[in-house]
Amino acid sequence: VAKESGKNRYHLFDTAQDEAIKVQRESLEAIRSALDEQQFVLYYQPKVNMKTGSVMGVEALIRWQHPKRGLLNPIDFLPVIENNPMSIEMGEWVIDNALTQISQWQTKGLNLPVSISVNIAAVQLQQPDFTQRLTTLLAAHPDVEPRYLELEVLETSALDDVQHVSTTMINCIALGVSFALDDFGTGYSSLTYLRRLPAKLIKIDQSFVRDMLSDTDDFAIVEGVIALAKSFKREVIAEGVETIEHGKALLQLGCHLAQGYGIAKPMPACDVPTWVNDWKPDASWQV
Ligand code: C2E
Ligand code: MG
Ligand code: MG
Ligand code: MG
Repeated sequence: VAKESGKNRYHLFDTAQDEAIKVQRESLEAIRSALDEQQFVLYYQPKVNMKTGSVMGVEALIRWQHPKRGLLNPIDFLPVIENNPMSIEMGEWVIDNALTQISQWQTKGLNLPVSISVNIAAVQLQQPDFTQRLTTLLAAHPDVEPRYLELEVLETSALDDVQHVSTTMINCIALGVSFALDDFGTGYSSLTYLRRLPAKLIKIDQSFVRDMLSDTDDFAIVEGVIALAKSFKREVIAEGVETIEHGKALLQLGCHLAQGYGIAKPMPACDVPTWVNDWKPDASWQV
């Protein structure tokens, strides 16, 4: 009997594994057709200077307008394609769309954020032809100055070759774009990356910012990253600024740049111009 139930367990296990493989394959096929059918859209979340009251730019955040399931967040689909060539294709789609958006805002002569930040996985930067591909994308939008494009590098996995990534970044900077280190402090080797990668901006991860007012360890990390940015002569922005109080505390620590629900949630492109025109920093931020 024991043997038989053991056998059954294996059988169940196999079935579960087969099922997982099937689900993965179906998810990949669904994303493939979503790309072909243009179901992905970019939402934009403002990045502001709390001290001067100016809008620095917006970050492009991908969404899947799913015909049946509604608007899906990156967590629902990006992990599926993480190790698939489709992630490269999607990454290029995002850059291309962001450049189109800048150009549309510019031709309409709107009072707009000066830059768009696009998220890219660090592994994407390891593609041997990344610089060439970026050159091609920029060339397709001759009316957009490359300095309006910022690339946020996500250190989701350890880089095999920091030297190569650094060289790629230097070559891209020569094209006019700039870089930010995203989710700083949570990745594999933040300090090595900070020292070796020519990123102009550091984004303090939202997990530290969220609890900084209640957790002294998180407060210490936020304070430390701000000091680190200063010594390395990099700009620093806090993400996940959910309340006015967070903003106040960050300003007191010398971090003027911020992004978060307390300022604005990610919004469709059509809502950006009005938001930019209407936004005022909180009165308590003026010191
Ligand atoms: P991220 O680049 O660190 O972006 C910040 C995420 O936190 C966004 O989630 C944003 O909506 C959310 N957020 C912003 N402010 C607050 C806040 O005050 N509180 C809270 N709780 N959350 C806040 P989203 O849009 O779901 O994106 C999640 C992640 O997916 C991004 O994290 C980024 O790593 C990745 N991602 C998004 N778009 C792209 C893309 O086009 N390409 C790639 N490769 N990754 C992307
Ligand atoms: Mg980001
Ligand atoms: Mg982040
Ligand atoms: Mg993140």
